[in-house]
Amino acid sequence: MTLTAPFDNSYAALPDGFFTRTTPTPVADPKLLAFNAPLAKTLGITHGSHDDLAFIFGGNELPEGADPLAQRYAGHQFGNYNPQLGDGRAILLGEVLDANGQRRDIQLKGSGRTAYSRGGDGRAWLGPVLREYVVSEAMHALGIPTTRALAAVQSGEDVFRETALPGAVLTRVAASHLRVGTFQVFAHRGETENLRRLTDYAIQRHYPQAVGPLGLLRAVCAAQADLIAAWMSVGFIHGVMNTDNCAISGETIDYGPCAFMDAFHPNRVFSSIDRQGRYAYANQPQIVVWNMAQLATSLLQQLDDPESGVAEATEIVHAMPALIEEAWLKRFAAKIGITTPKAEDTALVDALLSLMQTDGADFTNAFRALSGENAADQFTDRAAFANWHDAWQERNASEPDPIAIMQAANPAVIPRNHRIEAMINAAVAGDMDPFHRLMAALARPYQETDPELHSAPTAQEIVPATFCGT
Ligand code: AMP
Ligand code: MG
Ligand code: MG
Repeated sequence: MTLTAPFDNSYAALPDGFFTRTTPTPVADPKLLAFNAPLAKTLGITHGSHDDLAFIFGGNELPEGADPLAQRYAGHQFGNYNPQLGDGRAILLGEVLDANGQRRDIQLKGSGRTAYSRGGDGRAWLGPVLREYVVSEAMHALGIPTTRALAAVQSGEDVFRETALPGAVLTRVAASHLRVGTFQVFAHRGETENLRRLTDYAIQRHYPQAVGPLGLLRAVCAAQADLIAAWMSVGFIHGVMNTDNCAISGETIDYGPCAFMDAFHPNRVFSSIDRQGRYAYANQPQIVVWNMAQLATSLLQQLDDPESGVAEATEIVHAMPALIEEAWLKRFAAKIGITTPKAEDTALVDALLSLMQTDGADFTNAFRALSGENAADQFTDRAAFANWHDAWQERNASEPDPIAIMQAANPAVIPRNHRIEAMINAAVAGDMDPFHRLMAALARPYQETDPELHSAPTAQEIVPATFCGT
């Protein structure tokens, strides 16, 4: 065996209806582009050469103990219910118990057609594979719950989108791949026994302290509220918050058309398919509540009398905006040096954001500059900033160590969209240096290790959209 992993597969033991057993389709000429050795170590993986890794993570050879399958799910896509989704191009190899005793999925993405592929080719191209690799690892280093990237393998085959592009396979590691859509598929089809089984499984796997379907709902709402506040605090726009991309674990999942904002604007959208701005930056808190309402509706279907749970479920979902606001204030207060926020601090943060918006200030650099000498340089309306600065100084006078708080809350470096695009273009041309450079800086995002990567894009450099053409 060229790779060993301590597989302990629980999903594969669930009943019919949860998944379809499927093996990865081998690729022509697997070449290892990236491998996350520290993550592999925490997963208890031992392995041979790069070529061996390319074979395994390209889907050409199955490691011992894998029980590969494609998961079944449904989901609301841009608000419309699609009863037929599922892993169309992803295959779960199995689960391992990591160094902390946490169960983690190991999944190949782009590994060939499955029972859920519909018209799709089951493949991925290099661009989105490397985008997900870099951005998910950056999120992890920022301290935000996320799926991880274990490996990226170039397939040696072309995939056809609008044009021929180099194919690739990503290996993703997740607390699980359970989604809101996993509950929806059983609820909408009246598969109540499976719905109950899934609820028990999710509680046991993620929230063992939760009691019953409504306990699960409460726990997921709390995790998602924290997650969305964390995204907002780093200017992250997920881009495709469909219910099938909303993880029960509270991890960020599906990095298709995501991006980090440069100049601050609450209506910012990157995804080229999000024409209505449904998933714009500032809509994310409302959308996650909508997604949790879909989860609530699905969970209730398993009660003998679904009506009996409506009042409590409604109360839980209606409590979410306040939870998000609280988590948001904690995060944004820290960004201006405040450890114990008061309700009035919301106005202080909002005033700063509103200055950033009118001045087109760079979200990351403007916040980071607050802990330095030259914050005013980030703003064009100097007088307005000076006013805000006075009010802020007065508020911060009673805070113990605002500089340290701010430096731990405001990253110096984020995966800027123009850097990601340049990295992808280089990789397509066979140059992985920009990938490694980004990965090195993003591993320590609160330190200033590679200042060139801090710059906002110039007018010529701006990459205004990301394409879902995955
Ligand atoms: P997403 O918008 O990335 O969450 O994907 C939505 C659905 O489309 C999921 O069920 C995917 O598995 C499926 N899908 C996306 N791309 C492909 C592809 N190239 N081949 C087959 N299925 C795909
Ligand atoms: Mg998805
Ligand atoms: Mg996707």
